[in-house]
Amino acid sequence: MWNFGNLSVGHGEKVKGYLQFPLIEEKLPVFLINGEEEGPAVLILGGIHGCEYTSIDAALEIGKTLLPKEVKGKIAVIPIANPRSFYTRSIYVHPEDNKNLNRSFPGKEDGTAAEKLAYCLNETAIKEADYIIDLHGGDMIEALVPFTIYHVSEDAEITENSRRLASLFGIEYVVGSTGQVGGSTYSSAALQGKVAIIAEAGQQGILDKENSQLLQDGVKNALRSIGSLDGVVKQTPAKLLSTFDWSFADYTGLWYPNVAIGQSVAKGELLGEITDEFGESIKKYYAGTKGVVLFLVTSLAINLKDPLLAIGD
Ligand SMILES: [Zn+2]
Repeated sequence: MWNFGNLSVGHGEKVKGYLQFPLIEEKLPVFLINGEEEGPAVLILGGIHGCEYTSIDAALEIGKTLLPKEVKGKIAVIPIANPRSFYTRSIYVHPEDNKNLNRSFPGKEDGTAAEKLAYCLNETAIKEADYIIDLHGGDMIEALVPFTIYHVSEDAEITENSRRLASLFGIEYVVGSTGQVGGSTYSSAALQGKVAIIAEAGQQGILDKENSQLLQDGVKNALRSIGSLDGVVKQTPAKLLSTFDWSFADYTGLWYPNVAIGQSVAKGELLGEITDEFGESIKKYYAGTKGVVLFLVTSLAINLKDPLLAIGD
């Protein structure tokens, strides 16, 4: 038997059910696929951010369709990891504490709502896995070109294996992040000795089946590369980016971007400006590095400390 939180599944079997925790009220839907043959333990997450619908759909489809007879080892799929954010349509944050779940790992047992949820996910799901694939996309107010991310840590082997996994999605941009995004699933898992990545596709609150398929195909190719699934691993060219430069709003106001996603920008190029409610410019933003715009907030309303965009290079 494979025990996973309050659920268990026998060899060569598949179950779906709800993960429940004494610490929190949320029930997380999960598919557990226990292969007939031995192999790695893999965790696939969707919905850490509740409004990234394309990636939630991708995780759900993977959970629905994978069969124990084709899987080697164990695969857990949690398509809606943050159900309260999903049903309240809460952008970025858990609605109870306004904390970003993807900045809260490995979590706190006695913490706030997002920190407790992160703790439960870490203890039950992340600690059990050899590999973590966390699916994301542009949030309700974000445009985004598909990219994948891995954490560059001091552990060269984990870093290299994560880079390899992130490069197998058929997605052009692969970002090696050096810790700009602390408390995220992939960086926290990497520091716990796990091979862990994020793959991002889809945007702006739209369920985009084409990008969902891109993520599903990428996950399956990654699973083939680690021996979870049989089949030929497809290699596609990827651009490895080592800079992941985020801009944040210094003011609350109106955000007027001057660039588009996927656009190459030069260092010093005008990225956009924030104006006051009378249309007067408060601050102009210039590129701190050359590179390509990976995501861009498209909401006119912007709040102090909100992300504006990120450049990868
Ligand atoms: Zn996300």
